[in-house]
Formats: sequence, C-alpha cells, structure tokens
Amino acid sequence: MGKALAEIKEKDLHQFPFSNLKFDKIGKERGHYLVTEYKKSFKNPEGAKMQLLFYMYLLKKNLKLKEINGKVISGKKVIYVEGSEENMQMMEKLLEEIATFVSNPLPPKPKKIPFCKKCGYRDYCF
Ligand code: SF4
Repeated sequence: MGKALAEIKEKDLHQFPFSNLKFDKIGKERGHYLVTEYKKSFKNPEGAKMQLLFYMYLLKKNLKLKEINGKVISGKKVIYVEGSEENMQMMEKLLEEIATFVSNPLPPKPKKIPFCKKCGYRDYCF
C-alpha cells in the first residue's frame, strides 16, 4: 500500500533502493535530504517513526550525508522525523542494544504487553 501511494504522490521525489531497503521516496528539499514513507494507517505511530529513523540513520551514515530528515504520511496525517544528532545517537544506542540482545544464546521468556494483540509477530512469539 505504501508503495502504491508513493507512486501517485509527490512526483518530484524519487524511489531510491539502497542496500536491501527500498524507501518510498527520497528527494532534496532546501539543501537537505528528505525521505518520505507512506503508510496505510497509523496503528503504531512510534513504530512508523522509528522505522523511518532507522532508514535515515543508514542513509546518513553510509552515504555520509550532512543533513537528512523524514516524514511518514498516512492519509492527511503526517509525522515529521528529525535527523538530529540526538535522534541519530538514540538509533545508534538502540542498534547496539539489539545486537547485544540477539547475541544471547536464548531468548527471554515472553511477556504479554497490550501491543501484542495487534502485533504481526504474535504467532512467532507465543
Ligand atoms: S507479540 Fe512478541 S514481538 Fe509482538 S509486541 Fe508482543 S512480545 Fe513483541
């Protein structure tokens, strides 16, 4: 759905495959790069924001970009994601935590949280 929306909106921006990721749109706006992702819905706005920040982090680091920002669009709602140094450091810390987590020989015991009800990984977890 995100891909279909991207095809009909913001024709001045471009699809941009990078590594094994494919961003919906990327373009230049007032001297900085802007990544745009389209979502069918905002069931998990924080998840959508973090996914985009991860893409921005990869682009900034690997392409050595000076400034990058992003936005996630769902219908008329837009979430702006700043590519600030603070956000990039937060992403770096999260990636380190994930690397530590996945290097554990055994996963922790599952703990049900309210979000589990809507989670796409539910079948793997429980
Ligand atoms: S089902 Fe598993 S992966 Fe999904 S939110 Fe719950 S604990 Fe996390």
